[in-house]
Amino acid sequence: MEINGKTRICGLIGNPVEHTLSPMIHNTLAQRLGHNMVYVPLFVEQDRLKEAVVGAFALNLLGLNVTVPYKSEVIASLREIDELAKKIGAVNTLVRTADGYKGYNTDMEGLYRAMTSEDIRIEGEQIMLLGAGGAARAVAYLCAVKGAARVYMLNRTGDKVQAVAQEVNHAVGREVIVPMLLTEYRNIPDGKYLAIQGTSVGLAPHVEDVVIAEEAFYEKIHTGFDLIYSPWETKFMKMTKAHGGRAYNGLKMLLYQGIIAYELWNHVTVSEADAQTIYEKLKAHFTLTD
Ligand code: NAP
Repeated sequence: MEINGKTRICGLIGNPVEHTLSPMIHNTLAQRLGHNMVYVPLFVEQDRLKEAVVGAFALNLLGLNVTVPYKSEVIASLREIDELAKKIGAVNTLVRTADGYKGYNTDMEGLYRAMTSEDIRIEGEQIMLLGAGGAARAVAYLCAVKGAARVYMLNRTGDKVQAVAQEVNHAVGREVIVPMLLTEYRNIPDGKYLAIQGTSVGLAPHVEDVVIAEEAFYEKIHTGFDLIYSPWETKFMKMTKAHGGRAYNGLKMLLYQGIIAYELWNHVTVSEADAQTIYEKLKAHFTLTD
């Protein structure tokens, strides 16, 4: 791709950013769709986030992605915020407007598109959600907003899961999220559930770790979706499969959160064929490095 006087710049702000796969997603899309745009990682030192956002706008950057640890903190530097992102309290995409950036959360729409592409339904489903950190909190919102019948939300720390459940239930006006400790999974009514793994347990290099190790838990799962994508197959996924369930990792979520950001920046719709091409490229990266 030729960089010239009209090239638009997007990037990822975070700390660290060295391991990101987002440049692969965006630069491949720009090439395939013929957009004169480049996407680069932008390391931002602690305490310099505000300066970074103001500077990016002044430098005419088209858009930014935001990653750990700045997804909540960045909200204070925005001109506007999308309703869903505001409710979730986390922003991962900044879109340029006339007088500042508007913040969106494409992680959750990304997860939804990833699930839809695998024929996994949220509407009317009984769900078990593991974790109550930043990602799981957003998943709880997604499930509530998309009409899950019930979400048993299990976390190690009780206060945290109580607080998230209360907040989400209040926001959607129904008691859809049931907070529980991890050890209380046995109290979940019998049946088969969609289970979403939203803790950081099992993330490489701790690939033998799993947040609930008891086999009985996996008997309850018809489909397991792990937000983690490194390793390619987590222990949670292996145990789900061993008990007859289907299991998916978080790579498609990563893919679609990126695609939605790209669509917002460039006012286009990315085709499923292009999405699949990028997915294969990401997947090859894992096959080579996993
Ligand atoms: P976070 O805010 O730090 O939350 C961590 C969660 O894991 C909390 O619920 C925490 O429980 C739980 N946890 C950590 N260590 C534990 C242990 N030893 N035993 C039991 N529970 C433990 O992290 P996050 O931002 O939500 O991210 C969670 C995961 O989602 C990460 O692995 C991240 O890679 C993944 N993710 C993937 C995507 C994607 O695009 N696929 C996007 C976002 C996040 P306590 O509350 O008890 O501490």
